[in-house]
Amino acid sequence: MDRDLINATERAAVQRLAVVLALPAFEQGWVWLAGAGPGDPGLVTALGLHAIAGADVILYAALVNETLLKLARPGAELIYAGKRAGKRSCKQSDISRTLVSLARKNKRVLRLKGGDPFVFGRGAEEALTLARAGVPFRVVPGVTAGIGGLAYAGIPATHRDTNHVVTFLTGHGADGKLPALDWAAIARGSPTIVLYMARKYAGEIAAKLIDAGRGADEPAAIVSNASFADQSVHVTTLDELGAAAAESAAPAILVIGENVKLRAGLDWLGALAGKALEPGKLNVVKLSDAG
Ligand code: SAH
Repeated sequence: MDRDLINATERAAVQRLAVVLALPAFEQGWVWLAGAGPGDPGLVTALGLHAIAGADVILYAALVNETLLKLARPGAELIYAGKRAGKRSCKQSDISRTLVSLARKNKRVLRLKGGDPFVFGRGAEEALTLARAGVPFRVVPGVTAGIGGLAYAGIPATHRDTNHVVTFLTGHGADGKLPALDWAAIARGSPTIVLYMARKYAGEIAAKLIDAGRGADEPAAIVSNASFADQSVHVTTLDELGAAAAESAAPAILVIGENVKLRAGLDWLGALAGKALEPGKLNVVKLSDAG
C-alpha cells in the first residue's frame, strides 16, 4: 500500500484542529471504533480524522478509502482486517480478539470501518467483545452509505412530499441468506426503503415487495461505489431491480421509492461531471495553501 504519509506541517494542522475542537485524547490501551464514511475521504468526521492521526495501530475494513490512512502517524501499524463478499476475509472472532490483545498491550487501537460502525457493519459485535473483556472503548459514528451515499447520487433519504419514514434493511443475514423479514409490513410501513448488501437478492426482495402491494413501476436506484471516484448510478423500476442489480458493481446501495425521482433535479455531482466525476478531488485545497 501507498505509505505516503502527510508531512509535519500537515500533521500540525490536524493536531490544531483537535485542539480547537477540544477533541478527547486518544489514550493508550483504548480501542476507538470509528466510521470512515462511505468513500469520499472528506466525509470522515473530525473525530475520525483525529483518531486516525493518533492511533498506534489501525485495523481497517474493506470499504475504507485508503487515502485516509495517509493521515496515520509515521510508524503506525496498518492492518487490513476486511470482510468482503466472495473474497478471502478475516474471521470476525479473530478481529475482535486482535482488538482486545492490542489494547492489552497498551496500544491506541483504531478499528476503522466503512460508513458508520454501528450500521450493518458488525461494529456492535466488536464493541460487545471489548465490553466483555473490560477494554475501554469509544464509538465514533460515521456517515452511513445509505444516507451519504444516496446524497452523492442526488437522492435525499427523505423529502416531505415523498416520505415521512425511511426503512434501512440488509439483504444479507449472518448465514449469508436473505433475512426472514415481514415483507408485508415493510412494504406497507415505509414509502422509501434503503437496502444494504442486497445485490444478490434484489430480484427476490423486489418480488416480495410487489407481492405485498408495491407498484412494479415504482422508481428504484442502484448507487455503486457511492462517493468514490468511480461512483455510478442506475435508475430503474422495482420490477427491473433484480436484473439491474445483477449488472451492477459492488458495493452498492439500493433504494426504492418516489424520492428516487428527486434525483432529476438534485444530481449535484452529475452537474459537476463536466469537470471530473471525482468526488474527493473536486476543488482540491492543499493544506500548505490554507495558511
Ligand atoms: N457500516 C456501513 C455498511 C456496511 S455493510 C455503512 O454504514 O455504510 C456493507 C454494505 O454497505 C455494502 O454491501 C453496500 O450495500 C453498502 N456500502 C458501503 N459503502 C458503500 C459505497 N461506497 N457505495 C455503495 N454502497 C456502499
